[in-house]
Amino acid sequence: MSSIIQLLPDHVANQIAAGEVVQRPASVVKELMENAIDAGATDIKLICKDAGKTLIQVIDNGKGMSVTDARLCFERHATSKIRKAEDLFDLHTKGFRGEALASIAAIAHVELKTKQEQEELGTHLIIEGSKFTSQEPAVLAKGTSFSVKNLFFNIPARRNFLKSDTVELKHVIDEFQRVAMAHPNIHFSLYHNGSETFNLPQSNLRQRVVNIFSGKTNEKLVPVQETTEIVEINGFIGKPEFAKKNRGEQFFFVNDRFIKSGYLHHAIMAAYEGLLKDGAQPSYFLYLQVPPHTIDINIHPTKTEIKFDDEHALYAILRSAVKHSLGQFNVAPVLDFERDATLDTPYDFQGKEAEFPTIQVDSTFNPFAEEKKPSFSSGGGSSSSFSFKPKKEVQPHWESLYVGLKESFEPEPDEPHEMQFESDVVTSSLFNDTEVEQSKTATYQIHKKYIVSPIKSGMLIIDQQRAHQRVLYEQFLTNITIHQASSQQLLFPLTFYFSGNEMALINELIPSLENTGFVFDAINPDSVVISGLPVTVSESEASIVLEQLISDLQDEIPESSFSQMDSMAKSMARSLAVKTGTYLTEKEQENLVNNLFACKENSVSPFNKPTFITLSVEDLDKKFSV
Ligand code: ADP
Ligand code: MG
Repeated sequence: MSSIIQLLPDHVANQIAAGEVVQRPASVVKELMENAIDAGATDIKLICKDAGKTLIQVIDNGKGMSVTDARLCFERHATSKIRKAEDLFDLHTKGFRGEALASIAAIAHVELKTKQEQEELGTHLIIEGSKFTSQEPAVLAKGTSFSVKNLFFNIPARRNFLKSDTVELKHVIDEFQRVAMAHPNIHFSLYHNGSETFNLPQSNLRQRVVNIFSGKTNEKLVPVQETTEIVEINGFIGKPEFAKKNRGEQFFFVNDRFIKSGYLHHAIMAAYEGLLKDGAQPSYFLYLQVPPHTIDINIHPTKTEIKFDDEHALYAILRSAVKHSLGQFNVAPVLDFERDATLDTPYDFQGKEAEFPTIQVDSTFNPFAEEKKPSFSSGGGSSSSFSFKPKKEVQPHWESLYVGLKESFEPEPDEPHEMQFESDVVTSSLFNDTEVEQSKTATYQIHKKYIVSPIKSGMLIIDQQRAHQRVLYEQFLTNITIHQASSQQLLFPLTFYFSGNEMALINELIPSLENTGFVFDAINPDSVVISGLPVTVSESEASIVLEQLISDLQDEIPESSFSQMDSMAKSMARSLAVKTGTYLTEKEQENLVNNLFACKENSVSPFNKPTFITLSVEDLDKKFSV
C-alpha cells in the first residue's frame, strides 16, 4: 500500500500558523510594534487605514536589518531572539517564536523597508502571500518600516469574519495603548485614516497614563510602590470614588508585557474591599517586575497569559501593596515624587487671588409656600432645568415626564389613601384610550416598588422601574431615529473628560446624542463640552448617562447602526428610569401608568422583563374561597 502522509508546503503551513497568530488587524499591530521595541526603537509610528483592514504600517527608528536578514525574517522559525531552548527561560524580548512575520506575509501584501545605521543603502522588499515579488536596494533612513496591506486577501472567509471598522479599530487602539503604556520611554503616535489619534511623547509612567486616559486622570491616581525579593511593583491605582462601571482601565504589566490575570485582579479587588459601590470597578495601572526565570510566557500563543512560579505570594504582596496605598491616601496626603508639576493644576489659578467663600441665602424661601419658579431666571434657557423642586425624593428627570402639569405637595406615602384606591370610579379606563386622558385613575404605590391600579376585571400590579424603562426607551428610540428632541440650555457648559478609546466611541455617537437633545459646544481630543441636555436628563445625571452609555456600548459594540441606536436607547433608559425604592406621588404614578399604556409594547421592559401583571377578581375569589 502506498503511503499517504505528505509534508505540507511552506506557504500552506504558514497560512495555518497565521490562523493562530493573526486573528484580526490588532494582532498584526501587536506583532509589528513589539518587533520595533525589540529592535531598540525610541520612536514608533503606527498608521492605519480602515481600522487596519486596508493598511497597517509601523515605522521605527530601531536597529534595522541587513539584506540577508530582511529576507530571512519572513521564514518560519526565523528569529534573532533565542538560540537554544534554555533561552526560553530567560527572555528579555517581546518576540521569540520567529513566526509572526512568516504568518503575516502568508495572508497579506507586505512591504518592508529597512536600513542599518552603518550601511549606505537599505533594502526595499515586497512579499505577497509568502511569495517574494521584488527586492532592491533603496535610500532609506535608519530603522524599519513594515506595511501590511489587504489583510486576509487570499482567505475570503477570514476577511468576511472581520467585524465592523468600529470594532476592529477599538481592538487596534487597545493593543496600541497596551504597548504604549508598557514603554513610556518610547515616543508613540497613531494615525487613523489620515488623522492623528494619539501622540505620546517620551515621558514618565504617570504622564503616559494621563496622556492616554485624558488629563482628568491625574487627579484620580494614587501611586503604588513595593519592592520584595520576588517582585517589584510600581504604578498607580485609582481612588475609590473614581471607580468606573466597566473594566476598561485595568492593566497589569509583567516585565513590560501586558497580561491578563483573573487571579491578580482578585487580589486588587480584595484590597478595595468595602471601599467600592456594588459592581464598581477600580482603575489600576500596575507594573510588576519579576526575575524572567520565575515566569512562563509560553503558555498562550498571543502571550497575554503567563504562569508565575509563586502565584500565592504574589497575590498577597500585591494585595497588601494596594491596601497600603489606599490607606496612605485616606489618612495622609500622598507624596508623589514622580509627579509632573505641569499636570497638577487643571485650572489656570496661577496669579489669581483667592476669594472669600460667600453663601447666598434666599430670604424669601418658604418651604410651605406654593411652588414657584426661582427668581433668577435663566437668560434664554429653558426654565425646566432650574425649576424649584420641593421634594428631594422626586427625581428631576421624572418631572419632565409630565411637564406642564401643576405640581402640588402630596401627603407622605404612609398617610392612608386606601379609600380612594378602593373606589371604583375609574375602573377599566386604562384600556379605553379616550378615557385615559381625562379620568382620574386611582393608583397606589406599595413598597416604593409597585403601583397597583384597579381595572374592570381585577387589578394591575406594575413594576415602576421596568415600566419607566419602557417609557423612556420608546421615547429615546423615537428621538434618535426619527426626530430631534428639544433640549434644555445650560447656564454653564459642562466639560467631561474621556480616554482616547472612549472619545472614538463618543465621536461616533454624536449625531444620535444630538437627536436626543445633547448639544455639544466643543469636541476635543480628550473631552467634550456640553451646553444643552435632553429635557429628561438633569445636570447631575449627565455624566452618569454618558459613562453608562460608553460602558454598555464598549462591552458589546453593536454591529449595525440600528442596533447601536437601540443599545443607546436601552442604556439611557436604564440609567434614567426611576429606581425601585423611589417614592412616587399620585400624579407621578398616574402618569407612569398612562405613559406605559401609550407605549407600542407595554408588557415588557426593553430588557424583556414583564412590566406588569394582572390579578383578576376570579383569582382573588379563589384565594378567599378556602
Ligand atoms: P520574533 O519576533 O519572534 O523573533 P518575528 O517573525 O516577529 O519573530 O521577527 C523575525 C525577526 O525579524 C526578528 O527576530 C528580528 O530579528 C527581525 N525583525 C523583525 N522586525 C524587526 C524590526 N522592526 N527591526 C529590526 N529587526 C526586526
Ligand atoms: Mg516578533
